[in-house]
Amino acid sequence: MRRITLFGATGSVGQSAIDLIARDMPAYDVVALTGGRNVAQLAADARRLNADLAVTCYPECYDELKALLSGSPVEVAAGPEAITEAASRPVDWALSAIVGAAGLVPGLEALSHGTTLALANKESLVTAGPLLLGRAKAHGATVLPVDSEHSAVFQALVGEHMAAVERIIITASGGAFRDWPLEKLATATLAEASSHPNWDMGQRITIDSSSMFNKAMELIETKEFFGVSPDMIEVLIHRESMIHAMVGFNDGALMAHVGPPDMRHAIGYALHWPERKALPVERLDLAKIGSLSFEAPDQARYPALALATRVMHEGGLSGAIFNAAKERALDGFIAGEIGFLEMSRVVAETLDKMSSLDGLQNAEITLDNVLETDRLARIRAGEAISQLG
Ligand code: NAD
Ligand code: MG
Repeated sequence: MRRITLFGATGSVGQSAIDLIARDMPAYDVVALTGGRNVAQLAADARRLNADLAVTCYPECYDELKALLSGSPVEVAAGPEAITEAASRPVDWALSAIVGAAGLVPGLEALSHGTTLALANKESLVTAGPLLLGRAKAHGATVLPVDSEHSAVFQALVGEHMAAVERIIITASGGAFRDWPLEKLATATLAEASSHPNWDMGQRITIDSSSMFNKAMELIETKEFFGVSPDMIEVLIHRESMIHAMVGFNDGALMAHVGPPDMRHAIGYALHWPERKALPVERLDLAKIGSLSFEAPDQARYPALALATRVMHEGGLSGAIFNAAKERALDGFIAGEIGFLEMSRVVAETLDKMSSLDGLQNAEITLDNVLETDRLARIRAGEAISQLG
């Protein structure tokens, strides 16, 4: 039996993973499931999957989770430290599907124990890519991509040599506002930004898809994960979300990964890697689909992309600044403090302010430096939000 742990089990990615695992349950020994406020879901899944431990990241949710699991053998815990403790329990495979920079510490902890980490939490690569991958290397642990584009690139690279790779193209649907007139974007509401043309995902990543901050994060994620230079990475608008990524080789070949927009593919690939096993996803009927479309991204519509390019070139702790400022700006948009277009202004201003601070840019990427940078960037982004408001 494979021992597994799911971080962020109650979220969109976590639930897709549980759908796959529940179908094949005798194969798995579920050690821990973690979640947040959705304790009813967490408790139900912990019972159903016979987990040893259920953890909510919110201490105030402990009593409710404990009550929901009374009479069951499931151990209950709460708080960020309890999630880190869960990450120290030996397993063969763990899914990192917490949203936000909060996924970094549990991911590092799991890697320190040699656990194979299936990484949906792109924020940890954007914030501290070298730290995360360095930790994996030091402990002989494997990191597998779960973000659909990165899983697609990973699959296109099987049996290939990185020296033959010329470029990596990640596709983007263009998000909810791809056809809006530019002048209307400033008025976009939370409800409008929280819908996606093709993918069913958590609210934060859905809004990030509307603003293209999600694709911006994925550019940085590509650079970190595959160790390629920024000028080798391209974004291509592809409305249908059927081709997830392409790898261009030095003989002119493009290897494209084509599949339905269903996260269970990328999760399942990471779950069964290095094997490929049958997955319950739709089989595409390309004759019925007829045609696929491609466009270059409009930089004026998506200022987040230029910010990502800047971050990739600056390197150092600028990814930590970028991610934290983006998370704070997104909180601000969700809370109605700022408008849709102001999110990228807040991130740009935070990068400007903090990049000029001596020592930060070139400081070593240690956990302490990353957490301190994250803390400062959220404060600076908050100041930028107050000035706008
Ligand atoms: P979600 O909001 O649906 O779920 C997030 C999960 O994290 C929940 O279980 C929640 O309880 C938990 N969580 C939230 N804050 C936490 C904290 N501070 N500490 C510990 N746990 C916390 O998010 P999602 O859409 O499933 O995305 C999860 C991650 O996967 C994100 O990094 C996202 O960018 C990435 N991702 C998601 C998709 C998708 O299809 N949803 C696709 C690719 C990548
Ligand atoms: Mg993606």
